[in-house]
Amino acid sequence: MSGVVHIVDRFGGGERVGCPLQQRDVGVDECQACPRLQKLDLGADVPYVVCDAPALLWWPELAA
Ligand code: SF4
Repeated sequence: MSGVVHIVDRFGGGERVGCPLQQRDVGVDECQACPRLQKLDLGADVPYVVCDAPALLWWPELAA
């Protein structure tokens, strides 16, 4: 496995991931349906997704 780790954000009671491909945050249900997903661990101390999308280096709304 040679994916990139994306942390699952539970702020506000949801489980969201900043998706670099869609350039927005997505629910983990979208990750589970995504062909790029390699691993999803919601039981870890810091829940995370591993997929082959590159790390999010910037967020368009913040760069404006
Ligand atoms: S698994 Fe798919 S939807 Fe989830 S962050 Fe990676 S590319 Fe985006």
